[in-house]
Amino acid sequence: MEIYLASPRGFCAGVVLAIDLVEIALEKYGAPVYVKHQIVHNPVVVSEVESKGAITVENVSDVPDNSVVVFSAHGSPPSDYKLAEEKNLRVIDATCPLVTKVHNEAKKYSKEGKNIILVGHKGHQEVIGTSGQANMKIIDDRDEFNLENNDSVKDEDVIVLSQTTLSVRDTENTVNKIKDVFPKAKIRNDICYATTNRQEVTVKLASEVDLILVVGASNSSNCNRLRDVSIQSGTNAYLINSYDEIEKKWLEGIEKVGITSGASTPDKLVYEIVKKLEPKKVIRFHDIDEEIKFEIPRKVKKLLDE
Ligand code: SF4
Repeated sequence: MEIYLASPRGFCAGVVLAIDLVEIALEKYGAPVYVKHQIVHNPVVVSEVESKGAITVENVSDVPDNSVVVFSAHGSPPSDYKLAEEKNLRVIDATCPLVTKVHNEAKKYSKEGKNIILVGHKGHQEVIGTSGQANMKIIDDRDEFNLENNDSVKDEDVIVLSQTTLSVRDTENTVNKIKDVFPKAKIRNDICYATTNRQEVTVKLASEVDLILVVGASNSSNCNRLRDVSIQSGTNAYLINSYDEIEKKWLEGIEKVGITSGASTPDKLVYEIVKKLEPKKVIRFHDIDEEIKFEIPRKVKKLLDE
């Protein structure tokens, strides 16, 4: 069997920054440092930071008063910051700058009196954070939806935002349906560079191989979308977090296996799987250069300097 290893894959700049911030907080304040929601959606990353003294909790109310808490990369609603203030927590905000950008768009357009539609997956942490920034309607592309302009809203007053980790193709379809009702709606393209690049490479990889294995966690939105885009491109794909999850029958008659991973997957998981598959050859399937790095936001730097 030959393995085609997608590039770029794995950690994005937002994930690297978020993990760095937990480690910096642990170094500066000592354990425990609380993390509100999984710092990124990967159990290996979560258990690594927990082994260093981080404690993951789901709600700000679970953090003891006067503690240090890191807010995860997915972003948080204003109510979380408010409660943190009431509990006298020191908040290290690890929200990805590209998610913050969407929050800022929501606040700006809301102030201008626009009608905001957010295309995103209901219940996902990022959507909880973004929808808390302003009043908006959420359209989940996993559900059938019927959009009607019952309130006679002017279509130029409609703004369409999106979750950063959606499928580029599915979102385009959803946006087209929205445009059928509001032809002049302003469409912000909020799907981030990491999601777009990983999907673009996966589509091309799908035409080269017989099967794609996406390495990553089942609760990771961008990992799930990589599996979806591969299947939509006509190549079967499975989402796995370890070699043990591979079923023998998947590989029967397969000569070329493509491997990729989502933005929250550490590369060591990919290498472990490649090694255990014992391929005849590993071919790097490189398509897009990606050298983006995020600096620590000024506000967080100031807090860490205090
Ligand atoms: S996937 Fe995109 S939005 Fe999410 S942390 Fe990475 S760069 Fe930021």
